Parts: sequence; C-alpha cells; structure tokens
Amino acid sequence: MRVYLDNNATTMVDPQVKKAMDPFFLELYGNPNSLHDFARETHADLKLALERIYAGINAPKSDSVVVTSCATESNNWVLKSIYFDYIINGRKDHIVVSEVEHPSIIATAKYLESLGVKVSYLPINSEGLIEADSLRSVITPKTALVSVMWANNETGAIFPVQEIGEICKEHGVLFHTDAVQAIGKVKVDVQSLHVDYLTFSAHKFHGPKGVGALYIKKGKEPTPCLHGGEHMGGLRSGTLNVPGIVGMGKAIELAIDSLDFEMPDVQELRDKLEDALLEIEDTFVVTPREKRTPNTILISFRGVEGEAMLWDLNRAGIAASTGSACASEDLESNPVMEAIGAEADLAHTAVRFSLSRFTTEEEIDYTIEKTKEAVKRLRSISSSYAYKPKEQMSEG
Ligand code: PLP
Repeated sequence: MRVYLDNNATTMVDPQVKKAMDPFFLELYGNPNSLHDFARETHADLKLALERIYAGINAPKSDSVVVTSCATESNNWVLKSIYFDYIINGRKDHIVVSEVEHPSIIATAKYLESLGVKVSYLPINSEGLIEADSLRSVITPKTALVSVMWANNETGAIFPVQEIGEICKEHGVLFHTDAVQAIGKVKVDVQSLHVDYLTFSAHKFHGPKGVGALYIKKGKEPTPCLHGGEHMGGLRSGTLNVPGIVGMGKAIELAIDSLDFEMPDVQELRDKLEDALLEIEDTFVVTPREKRTPNTILISFRGVEGEAMLWDLNRAGIAASTGSACASEDLESNPVMEAIGAEADLAHTAVRFSLSRFTTEEEIDYTIEKTKEAVKRLRSISSSYAYKPKEQMSEG
C-alpha cells in the first residue's frame, strides 16, 4: 500500500483541477495580452479564475490579488519591497517576524539584516504558539512590517493573526501573514481581520505547483516584484501562467467548499491516528489539537531518530516528514521543536504526518500499524533508549 501523509509539503492535484486546466495546453494557449482570438478565448476563464481566487479569501474587488510563481516569491516580495519602500530611504529601520516562519521569510529577514535592517524574532511558547502580546514589547516607531504566519507548517499551530493585526493597526505598522498552511484548512477571510498582505500557494490545496499569490490591500501596493510589462497591474510582469491561474481558481473554490464538509472528516482521521500513536509510551505532541489545523500532527517518539522513522515508513510505502521539505535533505533537528526548547533528543525525533481530503481510513489504519512496528523496531536497536515491550514490562 502507498500512503501519502506529507500534504503540508505538497498535495495531489485534484482531478477536477486538472480537468479545468487541460484545455489551456493544446487548445487555449494564446497569450491573454495579445490582440487576436487566441488571446481573447482565454479571457472568460481567466476572469472566472480570478473571481474564484478573490472569493476564496473574501478579498474586495478594490484590493489586489497578484498571481506569483509560488509563496516563496510572494514572501520575498513583501519583505524586500518593505526595504525599498520604507527602509532604504530612512523612514523605518525595523521589521518583526516570528522565529518559526517558513525559510522563505527567515532567510529573507536574515538577508535584510545583512543590509542593516533591524529584525526582531517573536518566540513561541512551550505549546508552539505565539503570544500576541509579545509583539507589543518589540514594536518601535521605526517598525515598518510585522510578518507572522497564519498557521505553522510543522505543527499546524494556528497563530493569533486577529490580535496581531489589531496591534499592528494600533501602531500604524503594516501586517503580512503567510497563509500557505491555512487556506483550505481553516477559514481565511481578509476582511475579518486587519491585514495588508497575505501569501498563499496553489500546490498546498490540491492546485498545481508553480503558482501562488499575494493579496495586497488597496493603497498598500509595494514596489513591483518584477518590472516589465503591464501584467498584474504592473505589479508583477511576465506572461500570465494561464493554466496555473485557472488551476488555482478551481482549487481554491474546491478547498473552500471542503471546509464544512470534508475537513471535519480529515480531522476525525487525524485524531484517530494521533490517539493511536499516543498510546505508544514516551510519545509527545506539543500543540493542543484545538489550536491546530485539522490535518497536521507533529509527534515525537522518544529514542527514535526522525530520519530512521521516515526510512522505515517509506519502506512500508508511507510518506511523512521530519521538517520543512526545503530542509529535508539535511539531518537537522526539527526547527519548531528547537524553538520550543525541546530537549535535543526529542527535537531529533519529531515526525510530521499531514493528511488531506483524499486520505482514507484504510490508509490511516495501515499507518497506525506500520508506525507502531517501526517504533518498536527502532527502539529495540536504539543505544539511547532502554526499551522494553509492554508485555515484558508487565511480566516484571
Ligand atoms: N510558507 C509556508 C508556511 C510553507 O509551508 C511553504 C511551503 O512549504 C512556503 C511558504 C513556500 O511555498 P512555495 O512552495 O509555494 O514557495
């Protein structure tokens, strides 16, 4: 059996999304900016896709949703444009990010630091959560931007974006949130909170890879991401990725529809998996369930190296993860576990299972069985874990 439980890294394209994209390769391949019928034939579908994308985050028509190539691009754009628009001219000198942002934010923040920008990193607490009040003590009159993700990719922890937005508003500071792991898992409505910029990426919600977006509140338009033609209102030039945009439009519509009907089932399966794995002794999950996205578990099995666990699971046909896919070739401990301050041996044992609306109960039952076998096997050969199977312990 093959079981894919790495949906926070990427997802399968929904067959309905693929079907919607299909005509845009061999038939409707015109450049929408040209002046002939091949171009015009794409317009209705592009318009529909953009309407679906706006509706997906409840963005008012007056605001912009600029299609990019991925969330990494959107995140880089926001931070670097802040540098050009507010910092290089001396108006501001400081930004705030959380210490557990995706590498596309952390690495960009570090780059800006190397250019002289002051950066504060908001900590997470022992449950892997951000406390909004911690922001108050770091904001200064020179703070240009706060960037805190909506939901964390490792733990699924949902961060207090509503309160953070309020604090930013009080201080006149721009607020960006990376909502990559939130769309399709929890309700994301840009009008329900104070937010200036919001990032998302189609391949995390059963859309195609290579297409993402940046929501921009009216009046907060940053320096263009790519200079060139008039594409995307001049904010991001480059011939439009028509199949990608159509795919993202269909994918976000399906993802939003799934929130009420399919996500509760995903959560039930996630909880079943979690309950069963927590029956194994010396096993830990840091963030409480109700404070997480419904599809994610980051779990530590004491004495079991995360990579060894992935190896055993992979041999059984199960895909999971030990950290962000961007870092998964390094044998590093899980960055969120490190930020929480977990003991070193626990930080190395974290394994992430992330489900999707395509995950079945049969797959979860199989995963429970194979994970239990793997823990047993790996603890029995672990030099750091004195493992005794339960039966043996009850015998004496
Ligand atoms: N932000 C978060 C929270 C993510 O989880 C990811 C991908 O793992 C990204 C950004 C980057 O997304 P993309 O692959 O679209 O660049």
